[in-house]
Amino acid sequence: MKVHIMTDLEGPAGVNGRGDGIGNKIINTETACKCLVEEVNACCEGLVEAGATEIVVWDGHGGSNSIDIRLLHPAASLGILGGGLAPVCCYDGCDAAIQLGAHAMQGVRDGFMNHSFNSHGIAELRLNGEPVGEIGIGMLLAAHFGVPTILVSGDVAACREAEAFAGAGLCTVATKQALSRYKVINRPLEGLYAELRAVSANALRNLKQAPLQKIAPSYELIYRAMCPNLADAFERAGIERLDYQTLRFRSGSIVDLWAQACGWAPGVHNRKFNIQ
Ligand SMILES: [Zn+2]
Repeated sequence: MKVHIMTDLEGPAGVNGRGDGIGNKIINTETACKCLVEEVNACCEGLVEAGATEIVVWDGHGGSNSIDIRLLHPAASLGILGGGLAPVCCYDGCDAAIQLGAHAMQGVRDGFMNHSFNSHGIAELRLNGEPVGEIGIGMLLAAHFGVPTILVSGDVAACREAEAFAGAGLCTVATKQALSRYKVINRPLEGLYAELRAVSANALRNLKQAPLQKIAPSYELIYRAMCPNLADAFERAGIERLDYQTLRFRSGSIVDLWAQACGWAPGVHNRKFNIQ
């Protein structure tokens, strides 16, 4: 069984962050990265115990600079998300997807360091009329390739968002409770890591019952940029502009839709990587 783990750096217990004027900034990066890898490793231990034969951990926080491969569980490979003409997702051959270190979407008041992809760029995302953040988009991309997301960990708000998006059958592990965007109470680590190990193992053992978090096409993404400059760039690339700071992306494929939001012209990404 091959497992795809996507990580982020805001959601682990032990991360300290602040506002930097417009968006978020992690201020204890070295400790935060170590805390993330501990959670990843606890999850990997559970997965291996439950029969995982291949684990790819994708370092998903901006710049893919959060996981020191020397500290990573020996059964796990490390994926770095490069830019250029790389595909927006890599779920080939995976049986299950997991999101670790997740955070709530922009605007969730008890979401630690809440934001949606870019805390300096995106004010709001709505998919087919409903607010969506990184957790939901991640699940839909995995589901496009037939891969169910079986576990999400992050603060209480992230877990709530994941459960609301996925419906029943998703496992979550809360790492901490935020009181505001930067004020947070972290769980004691020993119990947290033990829970991550146990829930990861259970989630993989129950894979056959895991629902696929799919919504039917077609897809419409309303993207409200914080700054009109970003909207200018998308307009030049052929994206429909609804007002000064708002864009509308449409596609029959969630992968193509998200590729467009990452700067690909409509249809080009899926043609290039032969994604149906
Ligand atoms: Zn994020």
